[in-house]
Amino acid sequence: MELIEKVPEMKAWSAGHRVRGHRLGLVPTMGYLHDGHLSLVSYARGKCDRLVASIFVNPKQFGPREDLAQYPRALERDLALLEQIGVDAVFHPQPGEIYPPGFQTRVEVLEITKGLCGAFRPDLFPGVTTVVLKLFNIVQPDLAVFGEKDYQQLLTIKRMVKDLNMDLTVEGQPTVREPDGLAMSSRNTYLSAEERLSASAIPAALKMAQELAEQGVTGAAEILGAVRRHIEARPGCRVQYAELVDPESLAPKAEVDGDGRALLALAVMVGRTRLIDNAILGEKPA
Ligand code: AMP
Repeated sequence: MELIEKVPEMKAWSAGHRVRGHRLGLVPTMGYLHDGHLSLVSYARGKCDRLVASIFVNPKQFGPREDLAQYPRALERDLALLEQIGVDAVFHPQPGEIYPPGFQTRVEVLEITKGLCGAFRPDLFPGVTTVVLKLFNIVQPDLAVFGEKDYQQLLTIKRMVKDLNMDLTVEGQPTVREPDGLAMSSRNTYLSAEERLSASAIPAALKMAQELAEQGVTGAAEILGAVRRHIEARPGCRVQYAELVDPESLAPKAEVDGDGRALLALAVMVGRTRLIDNAILGEKPA
């Protein structure tokens, strides 16, 4: 496995494989890897000839009062995990390599980034789309894989790729969870033991909402009220948003209606840690 830190080297590596007809995959991450990241890597490994994982804590997607400085890092451990799965190259640039002096471009997807996380973290999606477009230009992948845990991010990247006629496929993969259902996240490491216990209310509330929908409770107000009450009954938990939206447009939905599907998206502050999760409601069993 090669560790590549410079843009021209990454471009040359990819170009070398592309001329040989290799299909290239990319899994972008901010590192501090867990089984959620590794499931994306394993999936991509099975779908391409050469696989690149990137590790870059992207300063542009953090707001001025967010956790950029504390964001956990463990490069050596990450590299060992990626090598085990059979990643061919890890792209690990420094911030100055991606944003050299004079950098002044921003890539924005306009509509689907307005609500949910975009309403509370205005820097997030412009930062994500700018860096992901750069990563796509540098690595030139045929396939890029992202997690459904960050559902709005996945949809935003798919939209960007379509709108800008980019020649790659973007695929999403299901959320990997801890035994009690909590979605794996690098930020779970911020939780104290007590907060970690409280956080299990998040997946429990999603499950409860799915059960309510199955029992015929379809009104957003009723479902979201129950979700909020369930989560806020736990010490230290405050719901930042709980919304029922259309899974394609992210437009708010008043009910889980006849066509079946609605996305329940949540952001919860557990102490000072912000966690997100989501679930599809009203899906008919296969
Ligand atoms: P991050 O390092 O948090 O930027 O995440 C890198 C990629 O891993 C993104 O596509 C995330 O959506 C995905 N990811 C993060 N947590 C999970 C999880 N629990 N299950 C599946 N994918 C995840």
